Amino acid sequence: MTRAHDLFVAAQRHIPGGVNSPVRAFRGVGGDPVFFERAAGPHVFDADGTRYIDYVGSWGPMILGHAHPEVIAAVAERIQKGLSFGAPTEQETWMADKVCELVPSMDLVRMVSSGTEATMSALRLARGFTGRDKVVKFEGCYHGHVDSLLVKAGSGALTFGEPSSPGVPAALAELTITLRYNDLDQVRDAFAASGDQIAAIIVEPVAGNMNCIPPVPGFLEGLRELCDQHGAVLIFDEVMTGFRVARGGAQAYYGIRPDLTTLGKVIGGGMPVGAFGGRREIMERLSPLGPVYQAGTLSGNPVAMAAGLKTLELVSVPDFYEVLGARTERLAAGLVERAGAAGIPLTTNQVGGMFGFFFTDAAQVTSYEEATACDQDRFRAFFHGMLRRGVYLAPSAFEAGFVSSAHGQAEIDATLDAAAETFAEIAA
Ligand code: PMP
Repeated sequence: MTRAHDLFVAAQRHIPGGVNSPVRAFRGVGGDPVFFERAAGPHVFDADGTRYIDYVGSWGPMILGHAHPEVIAAVAERIQKGLSFGAPTEQETWMADKVCELVPSMDLVRMVSSGTEATMSALRLARGFTGRDKVVKFEGCYHGHVDSLLVKAGSGALTFGEPSSPGVPAALAELTITLRYNDLDQVRDAFAASGDQIAAIIVEPVAGNMNCIPPVPGFLEGLRELCDQHGAVLIFDEVMTGFRVARGGAQAYYGIRPDLTTLGKVIGGGMPVGAFGGRREIMERLSPLGPVYQAGTLSGNPVAMAAGLKTLELVSVPDFYEVLGARTERLAAGLVERAGAAGIPLTTNQVGGMFGFFFTDAAQVTSYEEATACDQDRFRAFFHGMLRRGVYLAPSAFEAGFVSSAHGQAEIDATLDAAAETFAEIAA
């Protein structure tokens, strides 16, 4: 018996399900979750000292690999000067300047402490700005556990088969129009029916919470056009894709300018950080400039800013995303090749440092229906086979995978060797 089992039993004494965020519980794949002790570069180490190559990266933030020496040094230096002031610090200005430089659609930006806070606040701002209440979201997209957005959501909500949560007032859920991702005709119909009541469209510009599903050509462009025609706010939820698929996020990758952008994960370098921002005219409606209220005791926390700023500095070096993308592409292509050799049909999607794989005969996966129709049993078997061979994948078929700049040739090769063995085992 490993220590993990004892630790999980102990955790369940006073923590609901033994975890502080549901997908960690391994319900999607079965078995006890791995308890981590430390991490370095591309590796995480569990409580028994076992080493894994990590493709979760704390669900996206660790784009430089774990415990990057320069990030740790920046945090260590900053921490000596105090942990929080609840008053302005110069670090926040540096962060805002950097974000607005890297993401040109953002004229103004407000820091918060999580992705959920970012989307919740962006939505309130869009409603306050337009004076409208309805919001369009897409099935299988996850925007944090915001009441209005926890309707047909992805990620853990989808993994546990409860995409719409009890506790969300029906009166609020009724204001959320949920449509099919990558289906522009449906969005057109929704706007034709109630365009003058829709405050915003919120979308993951690359969906990463129902596995990994890129936008089909024309989808994001069409959303931009419809918002322009009907005076709705286009919100790109780039909590996952920001500084992940390209330096300027998915909006730079696809060349679409949203009105508001939400950020999280990479922007905090592993510390609890989120942000939302966008067009000056909209952001100026925010308190204290305008009437839309939003606040946070720990917002712009100086230690978190130190980790985020150093991370953004390090991803800004030339060719960072070209190298990361090429590595991730090699991993995805290698998985398809190894699966094929074992006679297992597999399809992958990949954008920059983000990837997904699907156990399916389909040549392409572009929709929620196709993603949820994939072979879950095969996924579970593959997950555990890889885990036994020292590769830590997301413990759910409805999450994207992440590669970091610390994942070198050796780690990719070792992962593909483990995959070849696991595919052969599954096929047998
Ligand atoms: N939006 C997206 C696209 C996300 O992937 C997530 C988290 N995975 C969130 C929002 C919520 O972020 P957080 O978990 O930091 O609240």
